[in-house]
Amino acid sequence: MTQKKPCRCLLAKSGQEDMARLVADYLSTLPEEQKVPDDIYRTRLVLCETCDALHNGTCALCGCYVEARAAKRGLGCPMTPPRWQAEKSGA
Ligand code: SF4
Repeated sequence: MTQKKPCRCLLAKSGQEDMARLVADYLSTLPEEQKVPDDIYRTRLVLCETCDALHNGTCALCGCYVEARAAKRGLGCPMTPPRWQAEKSGA
């Protein structure tokens, strides 16, 4: 039996619109000082979308939804070496 290859895409593109909305709602509750600026967020997500560890919106290395992980200033990519780095506090 052949297994379906996981989609190297974010939640909404992998058909998980409900989860994408929940993650977006969660991010809207985070204090701004805990989040990276929009340009860094987008750059991180582009790097995730070109990573073999991305499976249907989830990072296979850490188990996080990358749309949530990438938004947080203090979190970095779990790969060795990391594809993107944690940011220092913006406060
Ligand atoms: S290993 Fe890093 S770049 Fe790859 S999906 Fe996970 S967080 Fe994104």
